[in-house]
Amino acid sequence: MLAAMCSAPVRSFAQDTKPIRDRGDACPGALRLHEADDGALARVRVPGGILSVPQAEALAAAARRFGDGDLHLTSRGNVQLRALEAGCGGELAGLLGAAGLLPSHLHERVRNVVASPLAGLDGRGHGDVRPWLRTLDGMLCGSESAHALSGRFLFALDDGRGDMTDLGADVTLTAGGEGTAWLRAGPGHAPAVQVPSSAAPLAALLTAEAFLQTPAARAGQAWRIGELPDGIDELTDTVLRRLDGSGVAATTSPEPPGPRTSGPPPPGAVHGPHGDAALSVLAPMGRIEAAQWDTLVSVAARTGHRELRLTPWRGLVLPGVPADAAAEHLRVLASAGLITDPASHLSGVGSCIGRPGCAKSLADVRSDAAALTGPGRLPVHWSGCERRCGHPRGDRVEVVAVPEGYRVSVDLDGRTRSATTTGRAAVAAHVAAARTSSPEDRTP
Ligand code: SF4
Repeated sequence: MLAAMCSAPVRSFAQDTKPIRDRGDACPGALRLHEADDGALARVRVPGGILSVPQAEALAAAARRFGDGDLHLTSRGNVQLRALEAGCGGELAGLLGAAGLLPSHLHERVRNVVASPLAGLDGRGHGDVRPWLRTLDGMLCGSESAHALSGRFLFALDDGRGDMTDLGADVTLTAGGEGTAWLRAGPGHAPAVQVPSSAAPLAALLTAEAFLQTPAARAGQAWRIGELPDGIDELTDTVLRRLDGSGVAATTSPEPPGPRTSGPPPPGAVHGPHGDAALSVLAPMGRIEAAQWDTLVSVAARTGHRELRLTPWRGLVLPGVPADAAAEHLRVLASAGLITDPASHLSGVGSCIGRPGCAKSLADVRSDAAALTGPGRLPVHWSGCERRCGHPRGDRVEVVAVPEGYRVSVDLDGRTRSATTTGRAAVAAHVAAARTSSPEDRTP
């Protein structure tokens, strides 16, 4: 068996490039199912990742009745149901609709909204972003044009702590405190537009609608704001004019007021300022088995909020737990097999479905990820092919199956370093080194 590691130059395919759109948007939804190799797949959008207990129960019922019984979390805080039986679409839609998970059939694939999962819970940030979430979701579903957005177009609502910054959203709203908010279009560091907080959802919707009217979007050549061939200056000018026309005072600034950097909530108890706690757990490899979901819902049903918040890091936050009950609830969740300890070697590890669920996969990446990933600082995502479905953004390690073995890439501070490794022991060692690497290191 080969155990060689060949250094390779940085490869452009491991970086985020502007794709050329030459076919329609095939992004799956809850009504437009995708035919995968393990059966049909439904992606249920969950704006802000927020589920009530009855909605969580409905998702579990759908997974059990029509699919493999498991809930598969995505990197946008949505839920996928897999291995669905043929012809279940109508009944599935009825079940999800009855739970309030399909408020507009026309807009179901464009309700892609992520939000700071600890907003309003831990005393950080500038308060709860759920009012923005409710307003923006209602506006999206009421818009006559927004249904034409790609199923990949993403809104991010940041409570000011900066945890949504690296998610590559098309439209990011950041709470600025004192009744202000910042809107940023595109995934880069373009100038931000300051608006009154109360007008932030309108500003986000106007940005999306203005994007749809750009020549590249109208021609089907750009699905994301970052794909606009001439940048976003014109788009920003249009948004400013439309805000002015709506009576909203808006100004631009090169930088919003220093967002506090913050990453995913670590697994465990997050204590709030008022004597209660939120429980943060991660789904092993992004997949929650039916019994684990039942346990989560049962704990959530005994909290003050009776809600579950899915995170873009394939985890969940259960808010409203009395502080003195947090440890016992965490013990129950850990016993069910959920990750409650930041030191777990699977903390921060994700994977696409790989073999046998996807015929494009060159390997059983889920099994390899579970067996070959050790603990480390950086998140890791394993992919069965170059499409890298569901890969995260920001600083990370990516492990991609290639004909020779695995290519291990480290993305740190916007720079990518890659090398290909063959042989299981060598891959494990390579990934371990990559997870603990720093920007100064010369190899992954
Ligand atoms: S990354 Fe490739 S192998 Fe994995 S799910 Fe996507 S298409 Fe399939």
